[in-house]
Amino acid sequence: MRATRLAAAGLLLSLAACGNSGPGTVADKKSLVIGVKADQPGLGRQGPNGYEGFDVDVAVYVAGRLGVPRNRIRFRTTNSSVREAALAAGDVDLIFATYSITARRKKAVTFAGPYYVAHQDTLVRPGAAIRDVRDLKGKRICEVTGSNSWRRVVEEREIAATPVTAPTYGACMDDLAAGRLDAVSTDDLILAGFAAGRGGKIINAPFTDEKYGVGLRKGDLEGCEAVNRALTRMYQDGTAARLLDKWFGDSGLKLTTSVPQFEGCS
Ligand code: GLU
Repeated sequence: MRATRLAAAGLLLSLAACGNSGPGTVADKKSLVIGVKADQPGLGRQGPNGYEGFDVDVAVYVAGRLGVPRNRIRFRTTNSSVREAALAAGDVDLIFATYSITARRKKAVTFAGPYYVAHQDTLVRPGAAIRDVRDLKGKRICEVTGSNSWRRVVEEREIAATPVTAPTYGACMDDLAAGRLDAVSTDDLILAGFAAGRGGKIINAPFTDEKYGVGLRKGDLEGCEAVNRALTRMYQDGTAARLLDKWFGDSGLKLTTSVPQFEGCS
């Protein structure tokens, strides 16, 4: 009887503890499910030995600083179209997937970081007469569902390109090679990763700042602060410079190795 009452009191206490932090913070988890891309070379790609790339390595580093070792991380493919929903549903705890911080997304997601600032550029077939984003007028560009890059061209710059939908940037590259597209306009890191393996010409006319954030469930400010501390450390201890060189050292891109200005957790 006494033992039962004690057990019941313990249960109440632990329920109360859960209640205080709502659905919980990633800062307290003993294992993590992390959303990454699966077909973006250099960033997040699923190969025979699992997921690899800059985003994957940054995720492993941050998880380690949160107290979660590599063998307690489960990576999950999280395409552009499902990122917000995957966080809201609790399918993933964190997202490291070339995920730009935008005002629209901030309504549904808490973002730590940015952990890197990429810039949108454009990849074309060799010999194409496209030298600047304005030359995309009347051209077929890739619209990856849930991605922001096509909006940067069509909505923000009001350039009358023709978006052609695709599920991933890997699919865009197939469409470009097959002549179904004239250009793929998106983050320079993404384009550099593809160009290294599949060719194509990056026109080298960057026109945006893409702040790569770490996606967290909306409202997990404690987790967000913890991730920001980990990211600061990643730059201070030389890991960021090493990982950028590891994945993009041969790309010809000008890599920034100082810690980006954080957005603030909200
Ligand atoms: N960084 C851009 C975005 O978040 C393009 C890449 C992507 O969709 O993952 O929309």
